[in-house]
Amino acid sequence: MKVPFLDLKKMDDSLKSELQIAFGKALDEGVFSGGNPVNSLVENLKQFLGAGHLIPLGNGTDALELALRALAIEPGDEVIVPALTWVSTAEVIKLLGAVPVFVDTDSDGLISSEWVNLVNQKTKAVIPVHLYGKMVDMEALCKEAKNRNLFVIEDAAQAFGASQKGKAAGTWGEVGAFSFYPTKNLGALGEAGACFTKDEGLARMITLFANHGQIKRDEHLILGRNARMDTLQAIFLNVLLKYFNEFQATRKAQAKKYLDVLSEIEEIVLPKEILRENHNAHLFVIQIERRDELKEYLDLKGIGTAIHYPEILPDMLPFACEGQFENARKISQNCLSLPLNPYLSPIEQEQVLGSIVSFFK
Ligand SMILES: *Cc1c(COP(=O)(O)O)cnc(C)c1O
Repeated sequence: MKVPFLDLKKMDDSLKSELQIAFGKALDEGVFSGGNPVNSLVENLKQFLGAGHLIPLGNGTDALELALRALAIEPGDEVIVPALTWVSTAEVIKLLGAVPVFVDTDSDGLISSEWVNLVNQKTKAVIPVHLYGKMVDMEALCKEAKNRNLFVIEDAAQAFGASQKGKAAGTWGEVGAFSFYPTKNLGALGEAGACFTKDEGLARMITLFANHGQIKRDEHLILGRNARMDTLQAIFLNVLLKYFNEFQATRKAQAKKYLDVLSEIEEIVLPKEILRENHNAHLFVIQIERRDELKEYLDLKGIGTAIHYPEILPDMLPFACEGQFENARKISQNCLSLPLNPYLSPIEQEQVLGSIVSFFK
C-alpha cells in the first residue's frame, strides 16, 4: 500500500457531496464574482480571528503584496525577512522595488531575534513567518518593532488556527496575510487568500488595491488591480470551515502519535512543541542529518514525504546574496515533512511509522 504525502481527492464522500451541492447551488444562482458567499466567508473568518477587518483576496501572495502596498513600502525601502520561507514572502518585496534583507532563523526555522541588528534608516518593516504552523514569539517581536518604528506584516499563510496568549496568528502585526491554497490547513479547492488588519485605513487601502482602486462602481481613486477572491472558492471555504476544528483535532492526534513513537529514535530531531496552541500542526517536520537517505528509503517503501524547503532564499537566483544563514541552511539540508493531514488514515500512519522505525534497524 502506498501512502501519499497528501492526496486531496481522498476527502470523505459526505464532504465531497456537500461541496458538490454548494457548487450546484452556485450554478443555479449565477453569481460568480463577489456576492453573499464572499461576505459570509468574511464574517465566518472573523469568528476565528477576532475583531478587525478581513479582506478576501485571490491568494496569499496577493495578501502579502497588498499589505506592503497599503503600508506604502517604496522602492529602496528595506524589509527584513527570514532566510527560510516559501518564496512569496521575499518575492513581493522585490516586485515592489524594495529590498528583502535576509536574516537567519532559529533551530525551528523561525526568524532569529538577531533581526534587530539589521535595522537601519532604510528599514520599514519586518515579516515574521509562522513556518510549518509554529508561531514566532509575536509579543517580543512586536515590542522590538514598535521600539524601532517598524511595521510588522505577519506571514500567517501556514498558521491559520494557531494562537498565542489567546490572540490568533495573523492578528498581531499591522497586517496578517493568510493563504487558503489547497494544501494549507484551511485549503480551498483552488487559489484563495486574505488579509487581516485592525486598522481601518489599511483595510480600506487593501480593499481598494484589490479592486482596481474603485470606491464604488466606475469611480477609481487610486491605481489598483484585480486581487479579489473567487466566489466559488468562498463557497467552498464556507463549507470547509465547518470541519476546520475537527480536522485540527485529527492533525494534533497524528502529531502526538508521531512524537510518541519517534521520540525513541535519537537521530531524529522532533518538532517538540507541535501540540501547543501556538502551533497549528500544518506540517510535521523532522530534522535528521541522513535526510536524503531516509527520504529515498521511504520513497522505495511507497511513503511520500516532502522537503520544506530544499533551498534558502538568499541562495536562489532572484535574490542571490551572500551570507551564512547557518540555522536556515541546516534546516534546508536536514528537514523532512512526514504525511500529516485529515485524509491520512490511522493504518497509513502506522505504515509511515513502521517504515521509519525499520530504517533505523
Ligand atoms: C503558501 C504560502 C504563501 C503564499 O500563498 P499562496 O496562496 O500560494 O499565494 C506565502 N507564504 C508562505 C509561508 C506560504 O506557505
